[in-house]
Amino acid sequence: MESPAPTATTLGEEALAGFRERFGREPDGVWSAPGRVNLIGEHTDYNEGFVLPVAIDQRTWVAVGRTEDRVVRLVSTSSSASGETVIEHGLDDITPESVDGWSAYPLGTAWGVLQGAEGADLSAVGGFDAYFTSDVPLGAGLSSSAAIECALATALVDLWALDLSDDELLRATVQAENVIVGAPTGILDQSASLFSRAGHALFIDCRDSSREPIPFLATEAGLSLVVIDTRVKHAHAEGGYGDRRAACEEAARILGVPALRDVTAEALEAGRDRLDEVTYRRARHIVTEDERVQQTVALLRSEGPRSIGDLLLASHASMRDDFEISVPELDTAVEAAVSAGAIGARMTGGGFGGSAIALVDTDRVEMLTDAVRAAFAEADFKEPAIFVVAASDGARRESD
Ligand code: ADP
Ligand code: MG
Repeated sequence: MESPAPTATTLGEEALAGFRERFGREPDGVWSAPGRVNLIGEHTDYNEGFVLPVAIDQRTWVAVGRTEDRVVRLVSTSSSASGETVIEHGLDDITPESVDGWSAYPLGTAWGVLQGAEGADLSAVGGFDAYFTSDVPLGAGLSSSAAIECALATALVDLWALDLSDDELLRATVQAENVIVGAPTGILDQSASLFSRAGHALFIDCRDSSREPIPFLATEAGLSLVVIDTRVKHAHAEGGYGDRRAACEEAARILGVPALRDVTAEALEAGRDRLDEVTYRRARHIVTEDERVQQTVALLRSEGPRSIGDLLLASHASMRDDFEISVPELDTAVEAAVSAGAIGARMTGGGFGGSAIALVDTDRVEMLTDAVRAAFAEADFKEPAIFVVAASDGARRESD
């Protein structure tokens, strides 16, 4: 069993120490924001439906210090950056074309916050130096991108004394990714990273972006939430996403509704003749997944996490068979987890690779880990990373 190392406090201290060493002074503070897993509700976000993410205890930390000029200086210890190079960019000329590589995420965030602050008192706005540390695996479907954006956005709003509402803050981080990075993502990741609460999942209605914490007391129920990072990033991920999105829009158009969120299971069956077979199955995933999210929320409220296993399994089957976004590694992870006694498991995130989650009795975590490892070895897959996560708080200031 791997435990995610280094520990959270160490990473906060590492950000502080790294900042001091690199910039030769004290920062104004340290902030952090978590990665997330999606408990259930996949590809429902852009169909204006429901999602239920959980922020995890892997976080991105940032020490930030204001400067007098209007220049941004960035360092990250994460693998895609070197930890050595300081990236410099003017604060006032950030565009999709002017950025590249990992710094697009924090630069996009600074840009997004400035956009959101338009019309406000900008007297405290200036350049800044930032030093990032993180134990959210990059590109594993655990939303390291939202973690880096939300940690920095929270820092900038504090340091620049901006009076942004929660929704404006959310918009700033989503716009960073949509406009400057150029990834057409929904509001799920950043909502989870900004607004989650420890011991809770976050029920989000993606039509009006309203959100509500739902108790998710896994530990109290004797359960552990396990992440299985397959370490697979499929070459077709982007094309697959665009293609699924187009199919959903097409189905909504043919059925005469603004989004698939507005289609009930009965209405879908009634309109089945008008959809080709593939489009029908794509739509069926969304319609049934929206129902499963709502059932999961109701069950978490009434009976607790032990009651949601079948819904997780049904969600995986729907993504595998109807939406066709799973890969052999994800199916193997889910099957091996279930064979080792998991009460539920499913792929999480956009699909075509990334991670799966499993909900399992805590005293069976070891058994599950061994079973998944063995199944991966047997199939000649890359060795997966397997770790337990806890439902954690969203973005916050850690120290002055
Ligand atoms: P995910 O959000 O699932 O981890 P994405 O592809 O959306 O995957 O985002 C991953 C990218 O975000 C990385 O390749 C890197 O460019 C950037 N990134 C995220 N966190 C950090 C970090 N702490 N330091 C540097 N870059 C980061
Ligand atoms: Mg991401």
